[in-house]
Order: sequence, then C-alpha cells, then structure tokens
Amino acid sequence: MRLNSQFKTQNSKLQKLVPLLLDWFAANARDLPWRRTRDPYAIWISEIMLQQTQVKTVIPFWNRWMRELPTIEAAAKASPAKIHKLWEGLGYYTRVRNLQKAAKQIVAESRRRGNESQIKEKSKTPHVVSYKFPDNFDDVLALPGIGRYTAGAICSIAFNQPTPILDGNVIRVLTRIFGIEENPREKETNARLWQIAGELVGRAKTTKEAKKKKTSRPSRSSREINPCSFLNQSLMELGALVCAPRNPQCPICPVRKLCVAFHENCIEELPNLGKRKTATARRFVAFVVERDGRFLVRQRPAGVVNAHLWEFPNVEVAAGILPAVEPGVPPGGKNARNLKPVNISRKTPGGKMPPSTAGGTSTATLLAHVANNLGLELRDAKPLSTVKHSITRYRITLEAYRAYLGGMSSTSPHSKKVKSGIRVTRPSEAIGVWLTPAKLDSLALTSAHRKIVERLNSKMAQPANGDP
Ligand code: SF4
Repeated sequence: MRLNSQFKTQNSKLQKLVPLLLDWFAANARDLPWRRTRDPYAIWISEIMLQQTQVKTVIPFWNRWMRELPTIEAAAKASPAKIHKLWEGLGYYTRVRNLQKAAKQIVAESRRRGNESQIKEKSKTPHVVSYKFPDNFDDVLALPGIGRYTAGAICSIAFNQPTPILDGNVIRVLTRIFGIEENPREKETNARLWQIAGELVGRAKTTKEAKKKKTSRPSRSSREINPCSFLNQSLMELGALVCAPRNPQCPICPVRKLCVAFHENCIEELPNLGKRKTATARRFVAFVVERDGRFLVRQRPAGVVNAHLWEFPNVEVAAGILPAVEPGVPPGGKNARNLKPVNISRKTPGGKMPPSTAGGTSTATLLAHVANNLGLELRDAKPLSTVKHSITRYRITLEAYRAYLGGMSSTSPHSKKVKSGIRVTRPSEAIGVWLTPAKLDSLALTSAHRKIVERLNSKMAQPANGDP
C-alpha cells in the first residue's frame, strides 16, 4: 500500500471531517437513555458499563442501576451485595468495585470540601454537601477504574470539553479514514491516533459549523450546543453503525469521499491489529449438591476473577481427561443421559487424576477426582448442564453435575477432627452455605453459574422422571 505517502493528516481534511461528522450524528444518533442527560454520574455509569459490553445489553442494566442508585451518594453507600447483584450478567466485576471505590472517593472529597468551607466561614451550621462529580480531566482520570478513554468520554459528553477518545470503534474509523497501516497497538501509531482524535474534537469546539448551530437552531438544544460531545459520539456511533469490522456500509458513510481505505479498496485490511493470540480452552466441573432441598454454594474470595460472586463448588480439570464436550451434548458424553447415577466416596478411585488415554477417563473416575478435590462425598451424581462461554482469551466449558451429599472425605483438608479422633463433616462452614432455590435467585452469581441455576429451576419444575 502506498497510503501514508498519499494521504497525510492534513489540516483541510480534518477541517472537512468535523462538520460531516457533526451533521451525520445529528441526523442518525440512536436515542439511548444516557444520551438524554448531561449528568456526569449517569454518563460515567454508562461508559463503565459499555466497556467490553454491547449497547443493547447495557440499556436494561443502566436503567435498573439509575433507578436503584440514582446518585453518587447512593452508589457509595450501597452494600457490596447490592452492587454485585445490579451488575450480575455484565461480567468484568472489577469494574463495579472500582466504580464504588470512585463514588466513595468523590463523596469523601465533597465532605472534606464542605467541612473546609464551614471552618473558613466560621459557621456553626454544617454545610449542605453536594456530591459533585469532578469536571476536570485530570481529576476524573485519577478516579479508580477510569482510564484515558473514559475520562475523555465523560469530560466531552458531560462538560463539552475538547478531550479526545480512542477505543476500538474510533481506532477502526480513524485508521480507515486516514489509511494508517501500522498496528494501532504500537506506541507511535497509538500516539498518532490520539493526536488525530484530539485535533478533531479540538476543531469541533471552534468550528464555524458548531458556532452556527449554536445560534441558529437552539430548539435542537443539547446535541448542537455541545460540539465536543457531539464529535466524540459521532466517531463512536459511526464505528458502531456504519464502519463495522466486517461489511462496513461505505455507500451510506458520510465521510467516504475523504476515506483512504474506501478509495484504496483496503478496508478489510484496516485496522492492522497483527496476529491474534489463540484462545486457550479451559474446562471446569461443578457439583450442584443438594441436601434437604438446599444447595451448597460458596462465595469467591477477594483478589480472584469474579471476586465476591457466588458459585457452585467446582474445580478446573485438565483438558483431554474426557472426550471433549460438543455443543448440545450433555456433560459426560453423548450417552450421559443414560448413565447410571454415580456414587462417589473416598473409596472410589480418583484421588489422583490419571493421564489422558485414547478413550478418555471414565466419568466416574473424573467425578471422583473432582469430589475428592473439593472434599465432598457424593451420591447419585448425574449430568445437569454444560455451559460454554469466553472470558478474555479463554474458552471455558463448565460441566455441572447434580448430586446429593453422602458425606465428607476424611482425608479432605476441609474435614474437621474432633476430640474423639473421628473426623466429621462440616460442609456449611468448610466449603460454603446451604441455600434454598429462592435464596439462590437473590444472590449475585457468575453468568455461567446463573445459567446452571436456570437449568436447575427448569428441572425442578418438571414432573419427577425417576431422578433421585
Ligand atoms: Fe469506514 Fe467505509 Fe466510511 Fe471509510 S467509507 S469510514 S471504510 S464506512
């Protein structure tokens, strides 16, 4: 490609792009709930939710969050259980924990300022504290969980500041328009893209078009009197609606006349993101253990993926121990539905996972290994469901088995030795807690384990079919 030499970042091109983008956005922007407000708190929540998540998925979550926690103070005060429950299904839970940390920081800072003013004025009446989201880019960037993109988005959308944004959508649009063939993840190329994004939003602030709109049609209000917000959102929206990764809608694109990739017919080659890391397959086995109508669940500890969320006891098993599970095939293989329920005790071989063999390890041995690992003694284990999902570069298969508590392995580190010298089981303390199905519904579970609960509920709603 002879792109860079032919199409450099030119002033005239930047100047032409700005009104095209502003006009297109005015006519084509989706009516999203967070676009009806300039409340920085509401915009912040939307931006955090939109990280790694599609707009259509976020809408009901955002509406629910704003209904339940409509202010920064409410978000700061909410219990961990509440924020995790409101986030359940969105994934990447570090986002919501950082969000609350930031809310607490804003509240504490607002109180400190209120106290200072009171002291300064020598007033005996405490100041009414207003919990104000910072309106300065550096202060926003300093908040937990907020990077350069999010700070730029909040400051431009809520405060109409000329702060650039650069995410996957914007990178795609800019590399194509400007014919940037280098990898945008490389430092210099990335810096160049930030510079272009900065120039565009800076020009939006001063463009004649923006000024004209500001005075001529005030009735169209917020969008037109906020050119920085408008410009940044136009780049995001163009990437989402028109300049898609595959099959972009070039014939209806407002900037096609200025687009290098369109003229050079190299759209599919841009952005040049280099080789993708290959996905790694991981496999987990979980037990839905029942005792007297209650199920054993545990809470994930702090500092791990999906920290504080709830799940059924499970362990990771090495790939290749059993034949791979195919979509639509229950855990344990094609004949698993006909499997005889497996009783798993410490006498069952399985303390040590045998190496993979051509035919795979038997289901009973696998389950015995997992149960021993968890310190559970089970009976009547039967396949319940298989959930497949991806987290970052991992393709995860979670196989769930329903079983009944038979006891606790005496060799388990979870078992407890009492004075008599006899080991007794204390699963509710050692592994987790026993909860009713109704209580399970009220907890924040990881998405995969929520699917297991749904499967369990539908199974329990069915008439008895011979299951124990
Ligand atoms: Fe993207 Fe096509 Fe528009 Fe260029 S013309 S910005 S490739 S949609």
